[in-house]
Amino acid sequence: MTRSVGIVGAGAAGVGAAYALRDADADVAVLEASRGVGGRAATRRKRGCRYDHGANYVKGGGRTAELVRSLGADGLVDVEEPVWTFDVDGTISEGDPDRRDDHKWTWTGGIAQLAERLLDRTDATVEREVRIEALERAADGWWTIAADGSERGPFDALVLTPPAPQVAGLLAETKWQSPHLPALREAVGAVPYRPIRTVVLHYPFELDRPYYALVNADREHEVGWVAREECKEGHVPAGECLLVVQMAPEWSAAHDDDPPDEAAATAADAVAELLGENRLRDPDWVDDRAWRYALPDDGADREVVRRGEEDGLFFAGDWVAGEGRVHEALWSGVEAGERIERRVLRR
Ligand SMILES: Cc1cc2nc3c(=O)[nH]c(=O)nc-3n(C[C@H](O)[C@H](O)[C@H](O)COP(=O)(O)OP(=O)(O)OC[C@H]3O[C@@H](n4cnc5c(N)ncnc54)[C@H](O)[C@@H]3O)c2cc1C
Repeated sequence: MTRSVGIVGAGAAGVGAAYALRDADADVAVLEASRGVGGRAATRRKRGCRYDHGANYVKGGGRTAELVRSLGADGLVDVEEPVWTFDVDGTISEGDPDRRDDHKWTWTGGIAQLAERLLDRTDATVEREVRIEALERAADGWWTIAADGSERGPFDALVLTPPAPQVAGLLAETKWQSPHLPALREAVGAVPYRPIRTVVLHYPFELDRPYYALVNADREHEVGWVAREECKEGHVPAGECLLVVQMAPEWSAAHDDDPPDEAAATAADAVAELLGENRLRDPDWVDDRAWRYALPDDGADREVVRRGEEDGLFFAGDWVAGEGRVHEALWSGVEAGERIERRVLRR
C-alpha cells in the first residue's frame, strides 16, 4: 500500500519537506491555511507593483545558492545594492558587515516564487484555505481535523510547520496516547516570537540612494528596516519608489491595533526624518501587514521536538532551526523530509 505524508503549512519549511520527498514512494499532501503558498516569504501585487512584504530575500551561499539556482535562472534576482545601517539618532553608515558578502535572492515574480518553484518540482497535492485545528493519532495513522470539521488522513507521517505558538495551539487539540505529549506541548509553547508590522509606502517619483536597504543596528529606533523594493528587478515600474518599512518589534507590539492609515503616517514621518526628505511624508498609496509571529527569539529544545518521530510526528520551521531565516526554515523542512524517508517510509 502507498504510504502517505501530511504537511501542515506551505511556508519554506513545509515546501522544503515536500521537496525532500519528491522522489519518495509516498503520497504527499500539503495543507495550507491561506490562499497562497510561501508563508512569511510572501509577495503581494498592487497597482502595477510587486513587493515582498514579509521576508525581503533568501540569504545564503553554499547549498542554499545551489538549490536556488537549480530552480531556474529565469526571473531569479540577486539584489546587488548593499544594506547600510542606521542608529537611534538616525545616523546612516555605510555597510553592514554581517551582510556584505551574502547573496540576497528573490525573483521578478517575488519571493513567494521560492515555494511555487519548489512545489512545482514535486507531485505533492497542495490544498489551500484549509486551516487545521486538531490532530488525532488513530490506529491507522495521523488524522487532521480542519476548521470546517473535515478530516484528512490517515498519514504515516505528519509534519507541523506553522510558527511555534500556532503549533502549540494544535498540540493542545491533539488526541495521542503518548508519554511525550506533555513535554512537547511545553517545549513548543515556550518558544518566544517577536511581532513586526510591515508598512508599505509608495511614491510616484524615484528615490536615488546608494543602498538597497537600511537596518537599525542598535535596535533602539522605532523603525527596524527600510528597503527600496525598486532595487528588485520587475517589482516597481520605472520612475516610482516603493519602500518596505518594518517597524521595530516593541513598536509593533504596542501598535498592533492602530488603523493602517495611522501606522502608515507614523512610518512615513519616521522614514522622511531618517532619509532627510520631506516629500516622503506623503505616499500616494500604502499597504500594511501585521506579522504577529514574525521572528522566533529562540529555538525549541531539539531533543524534545524529535521525541514524536517514532510515532510519525515531525516538526520543522524557523523555530526548530533556531533562527528566523527563510533558508533555515527551508533546510529544517528538507531535513525533516529526509528523516521521514529514512525512519517511516523505508521501515
Ligand atoms: C517582516 C519579516 C521580515 C523577514 N525578513 C527576512 C529576510 O529578509 N530574510 C530571511 O531569511 N528571513 C526573513 N524573515 C523570516 C522568514 O520569513 C521566516 O523565518 C521563514 O519564512 C519561516 O518559514 P516557516 O516555513 O518556518 O514558517 P511560515 O513561513 O510562517 O510558514 C508556515 C505556514 O503555515 C501556515 N499555517 C499556519 N497555521 C496553519 C494551520 N493551522 N493549518 C494550515 N496551515 C497553517 C501559514 O499560513 C504559513 O503558510 C522575515 C520575517 C518577517 C515576518
